[in-house]
Amino acid sequence: MTKIGLEIHCQLTKLESKLFCNCKADYRNLTPNSNICPICIGLPGSLPILNKKAVEKAAMISLALGCQIPEQISFFRKNYFYPDLPKNFQITQYNAYGPTSIGSDGSIQIEGKEIRIRRIQIEEDPGRLVYEGISEKTQITLVDYNRAGTPLVEIVTEPDFENPRQVRIFLNVLADLVENLEVSDPYLEGAMRVDGNISVEKGNRVEIKNVGSFRDIEKALHFEITRQQSLVDRNIEVAAETRHWDEARKITVSARSKEEEQDYRYLPEADIPLVTITQDKIDNLRKQMPESIVAKKERYIKKYGIPTQVAEVLSSDKFYSDLFEKAHTESNAKEIANIITTDLMGFADTREKKIDLKVTHRHISDLADAIVGNKITRNSGKAALYEMIKTGKSFSEIVSSLDLGSVSNASSLEKIIDEVFKEEEKAVKEAKQNPDTINYIVGKVMRKTKGKADPSTTLEIIRKKLLSA
Ligand SMILES: [Zn+2]
Repeated sequence: MTKIGLEIHCQLTKLESKLFCNCKADYRNLTPNSNICPICIGLPGSLPILNKKAVEKAAMISLALGCQIPEQISFFRKNYFYPDLPKNFQITQYNAYGPTSIGSDGSIQIEGKEIRIRRIQIEEDPGRLVYEGISEKTQITLVDYNRAGTPLVEIVTEPDFENPRQVRIFLNVLADLVENLEVSDPYLEGAMRVDGNISVEKGNRVEIKNVGSFRDIEKALHFEITRQQSLVDRNIEVAAETRHWDEARKITVSARSKEEEQDYRYLPEADIPLVTITQDKIDNLRKQMPESIVAKKERYIKKYGIPTQVAEVLSSDKFYSDLFEKAHTESNAKEIANIITTDLMGFADTREKKIDLKVTHRHISDLADAIVGNKITRNSGKAALYEMIKTGKSFSEIVSSLDLGSVSNASSLEKIIDEVFKEEEKAVKEAKQNPDTINYIVGKVMRKTKGKADPSTTLEIIRKKLLSA
């Protein structure tokens, strides 16, 4: 049986400062090596000061994933020599003498399957290596330490996944979860990076390191299953090794033989004292945590009668559920959920597109009220929404400028239907005999009103008129 486990590095991007100093946690788009200080580049004599908020945010992730939080947490030095690591060790957590990392033994349900969380640990991100030059001979490596010391949470699962598809679903759920918790923006470049370990029946465990996108980890795992299976089929041993994902060629390549844990010489970090986390503190954190996605979904279903599927889509996306919360009233909630999940999500399905939206909660609530009050048809509503997204103009302005108001008042609609009856004598006769042909007349009315007539009112009037004609 194929077994897959994951290690996910998730940056706590919502924090102001790095894990052990006052440099900015947001290292993006800065001049290289401008966001550094003696602490994060590990100059002799500098001492780390633990960011309290980072511990709190990491604890919230642990609670949300059903993990145990120990009474005391501690930090360790993981020693390795690489240019992106200025101190030559990374400050991280390690359960050497019982659990002292921020979380352990959790679990989460993915489509009815339990994925166990082995451990959650707080650690610092290393710097970044930037390669420049076109040919191998002229290539140089540049080091940028702006990212060094950025707060990270590493989430380690048990090898509970049976296929790459489950991995992708899990990662999407996890990304929604940390976004909903307001601890991270998982869609920022590099904010969530994944290592996967995978073995097939009768094969050794292979690790795939540092894949930046969920789509690529799914592809890399598919590739590994095929590669490992074909080795096993030919009685060739699958080497226990670390492999890299080659984005351009869409294959994994052997990187180096895997380090053993003892190679890292984990040592207790004596510069950071043990941190006690009391039950009171945990209870307090729980109270500060935003409503969970599951609880939100249940509320949408129970309180507003929103269909399960719609409630699920709406509650799992923080951007859109926030918009819903601001826009809805008791009477238009269902319609707003409908507008957001069918029309708006169709227009803006990526982070960039969402940010570009000119639409506000006011636009959405005005539109929903007009649809609920039969002042505009769903079709015209969609056109108005598109215009609001592009221009940011108010709903009423758009309705009058595009002449989208619905022809729902019965007398003007009746006049138009009378005209159609005169023009289409033959069709009217036919419809009297065969009600199946009534749609033809409805279509004519729609064309005359440019789609602004309410279809059900139109049908009702036509039926009445057919009886009396
Ligand atoms: Zn610093």
